[in-house]
Amino acid sequence: MRLIENWFSERYSDNLQLSFRIKDQLLSIKTDYQRIDLFDTYDFGKLLSIDGTVQLTEKDEYIYHEMITMVPYYFNSKPSRVLIIGGGDGGAARRLVDLGIKNIINVEIDGNVVEVAKKYFPAISSSFKESAVKLIIGDGIKYIKESSDKFDRIIIDSTDPVGPAEGLFSQEFYNDIKSHLTTDGIVVTQSGSPYYQPTALAMAHKGMTEVFRDVKTYCAFIPTYPSGLWSFTMASPDRIVGRDESTVTGKYFNSDVLTGSFYLPEFVKNILK
Ligand code: SAM
Repeated sequence: MRLIENWFSERYSDNLQLSFRIKDQLLSIKTDYQRIDLFDTYDFGKLLSIDGTVQLTEKDEYIYHEMITMVPYYFNSKPSRVLIIGGGDGGAARRLVDLGIKNIINVEIDGNVVEVAKKYFPAISSSFKESAVKLIIGDGIKYIKESSDKFDRIIIDSTDPVGPAEGLFSQEFYNDIKSHLTTDGIVVTQSGSPYYQPTALAMAHKGMTEVFRDVKTYCAFIPTYPSGLWSFTMASPDRIVGRDESTVTGKYFNSDVLTGSFYLPEFVKNILK
């Protein structure tokens, strides 16, 4: 008997891909913005991919979502108003609600991502049922241009800098973001794999350095993202200084990670030069 195995693969380069053995493909849709696929994998539970790239899996989503929310949370004044751009799975909003933040606006361009998350990732997307979270389906770039609101944190939880997310890595966008931050507010963006996507990190770092007073890059280990090493870049119109406060421990995040994630390997430092 011949066993037929099904695999989903994300291509990292012409010569390398990461493959997940799957039990089933649960969904494949082409929206106005992107292609969304959902797989039931053997090792990582349900996996959401957009345009062929892994966005989240049930098993390791906590790392990305803790790191994009909890790290910037512990610097400068305690945040009370937060804007999320992207993040249609609800994972970033979930962590912010758990940190006690009561005023969160989440602007996601593609309502289909939200619908898929509600159906297939109910625990993660449960944030959209919370009274603290206001979900707006729209373009984050347009929202920033048209709104006059100020935020203590702006979290850019976007896809990679191609397609609808390209403008989210531009200097012009960071300039607009600055006018929506409180005096010592912080913006944070996911800035890609330093190993496979050094341009995304360089774009985020350069764009933010030209606009903000202080910029800091930190990294996390995310097994289902290209190379496993992932970068985040945060910036503020003021200096970025840690608060003297004990930290909540997550499943990945803890007080050691809060310090240690800013210690960068030399090849990452070189991308930032
Ligand atoms: N954790 C993810 C990663 O780095 O792979 C990001 C996940 S989240 C699903 C990314 C979201 O950003 C997508 O749902 C996408 O629709 C949204 N997005 C992309 N461009 C956007 C824009 N201009 N405004 C608002 N949302 C945007």
